[in-house]
Amino acid sequence: MASANLDGIGMTSPRARARMVERLRAQGILNPKVLEAMAKVPRHRFVDEALASRAYEDTALPIGFGQTLSQPYTVARLAELAVGPRRPDKVLEVGTGSGYQTAILAQLAGTVYTVECIEALQKKARFRLYDLKIYNVKYAHCDGSQGWPKYAPYDVIVVTAAAWEIPDPLLKQLAPGGVLVIPVEQGPRQILKRITCTEAGYAVEDIEPVKFVPLLGGKG
Ligand code: SAM
Repeated sequence: MASANLDGIGMTSPRARARMVERLRAQGILNPKVLEAMAKVPRHRFVDEALASRAYEDTALPIGFGQTLSQPYTVARLAELAVGPRRPDKVLEVGTGSGYQTAILAQLAGTVYTVECIEALQKKARFRLYDLKIYNVKYAHCDGSQGWPKYAPYDVIVVTAAAWEIPDPLLKQLAPGGVLVIPVEQGPRQILKRITCTEAGYAVEDIEPVKFVPLLGGKG
């Protein structure tokens, strides 16, 4: 990989990553497993070399095709909300993007099933994860608003793009007790929602305002 030779120097060193983790802690990310994963995965390997020195800043970064790699806080927050204290067996991620969130989720779960509608992005992500020896990930190029029925049900579903409404197929692919975390357009803003599949039905929590690129196609 092009930026592999940046490992361990200056702005891309483990020290830069440790500073990012301290910032995340101060921002309220408390799950030790999530913080451990954020400390371990080299975020600078998921952006173009020209942006590598900015990888640990508290900012979203462009990844091409009009898409972005979310800021570290958002990635950690999605993981924390979705995974909780347990280790889920199966996680569906909608929106592979650069593969960074996928790599974080792969540290926290048995298998990550990740779907992406822009094939070229997913191809790059796949190479990056393979390069980092992260093998517990399955990939599909498809419209993620339909989920990935073949491997359903999932213990966790994480959507990394904002939907106009919660896609029904995603709710149907949740295992009993499963959790869906999804940003949803609500009036002039987006709200991050967590939906838990309970015996009594779907319990919906509004978590916090967020800013994501739109979910494309389908129910996007
Ligand atoms: N989690 C990613 C990362 O770590 O780089 C960033 C995701 S970016 C904010 C949102 C991604 O969702 C983009 O890569 C976009 O192409 C993808 N996307 C948007 N709509 C989609 C859809 N209907 N199905 C699958 N992927 C979709």
